[in-house]
Amino acid sequence: MNVFRPDDLVISRPEGLYCPPGDFFIDSWRPVDRAVITHAHSDHARVGHQHYLAHTDSAGTLRTRLGAGINLQSLAYGEVIDHHGVRVSLHPAGHVLGSAQVRLEHGGQVWVASGDYKIEPDGTCPAFEPVRCNTFITESTFGLPIYRWPTQASLCADIDDWWRANADQGRASVLFCYAFGKAQRILHGVDAAIGPIVMHGAVEPLNEVYRAAGVALPPTLRVSDPRVDTGLLQRALVLAPPSAQGTPWMKRFGTYADAFASGWMQLRGTRRRRGVDRGFVMSDHADWSGLLQAIEGTGAERVLVTHGSVAVLVRWLTEHGLDAQGFKTEYGDEDLADQAVSA
Ligand SMILES: [Zn+2]
Ligand SMILES: [Zn+2]
Repeated sequence: MNVFRPDDLVISRPEGLYCPPGDFFIDSWRPVDRAVITHAHSDHARVGHQHYLAHTDSAGTLRTRLGAGINLQSLAYGEVIDHHGVRVSLHPAGHVLGSAQVRLEHGGQVWVASGDYKIEPDGTCPAFEPVRCNTFITESTFGLPIYRWPTQASLCADIDDWWRANADQGRASVLFCYAFGKAQRILHGVDAAIGPIVMHGAVEPLNEVYRAAGVALPPTLRVSDPRVDTGLLQRALVLAPPSAQGTPWMKRFGTYADAFASGWMQLRGTRRRRGVDRGFVMSDHADWSGLLQAIEGTGAERVLVTHGSVAVLVRWLTEHGLDAQGFKTEYGDEDLADQAVSA
């Protein structure tokens, strides 16, 4: 089913989302000449494009992941450039450091492609800003009414309680979380007075990128640091990517408690399959009410839905008087990708 119309500012092509008047792509999954990148998660920022355009705060992660030599132009939020008569600007998406919604203006139309976004501010990147537009392209990773996230404050209080209880019993608290975004949100939100905080080698380089961007994170130790001994680990919070679970890397912790932080932890089956002591419901994406709030905030009359529970959200929007349709893209689920961002 082709949902696109002849004068649309964004259409779907085999390479990815494409802006015909501007002749550039957004988060394309195949190598192209020009790509606007919403954020540096690996399913959105692919290798091999000739020209990249992204937010200034994505430069560090993009260059680390894709190579220092990529041809990258960066913009501040709200800064406008003109490309083939299309006015292009980036606006905060509240997802991870440097994440942006892409606003396009041409021929009297305004379109916004959201990329991944989250509504509740978490202190590690500027909060999501609704951008008025005629057509809004939204993700719907968690586009079902069952998804309702706890507030960041209550999430961090739960993690603190779990960590404190484990430290009192002399065992390490190993928390599996995605290395780019989630780990830094946890660091930013937990009570560092409870004990030392120890990092898997895949996480610390991302912490450095956040610190360099001015995000306040508590002191962390690499697991390879000589100060990290058995006694210290017994009181420590350890952040590791999901791929470390069940590997020999875990042996150093002796008896430990483990937990997994993901939006999917809201589903009992996922918790069980993960086989951890504890699941924390934590996502960098909007929950159901967040998606509806974001869509309403744009004032868009037309909404194109992609990635996730598309049909349910499309039906809800249609029933509420919007021109809504779904289409396919090739973005993945960071949490389920089960691969560490090694950069
Ligand atoms: Zn993402
Ligand atoms: Zn994504």
